[in-house]
Amino acid sequence: MNCHCGNDKTYKACCEVFHLNNGKTETAEQLMRSRYSAFVLADGNYLMATHHSSTRPIKEKKAIVKWAKSVQWIKLEVLETTKGSQNDTEGIVTFNAYFFENGNVDVIHEKSAFVKENDQWFYLGLSQ
Ligand SMILES: [Zn+2]
Repeated sequence: MNCHCGNDKTYKACCEVFHLNNGKTETAEQLMRSRYSAFVLADGNYLMATHHSSTRPIKEKKAIVKWAKSVQWIKLEVLETTKGSQNDTEGIVTFNAYFFENGNVDVIHEKSAFVKENDQWFYLGLSQ
């Protein structure tokens, strides 16, 4: 079975590695994928830990977890990645995340900005 993020690997060999090491990914795309998997698993702690402290929505954590559990996740499509490699300190990942909510298919289309601090990638928020 493929990982929740859609990679052709098992969850154990893919996003679980990052879920267990608190988000120490090599690339921004890996962090983005592992955060999508964390939404699928409604893992609020991981979503907060990998969200940059300057924009971390700690007060919304409960609501985010509740919402993540209330929808049925369908799939993630990574459309484009700009920078975000091992040698970068910032990156942008554009993606579509599909889910069922109240019986309808919905999609989050987002261009996400990531930054690397102390050798660890963090989700910053929407890119300009
Ligand atoms: Zn994965």
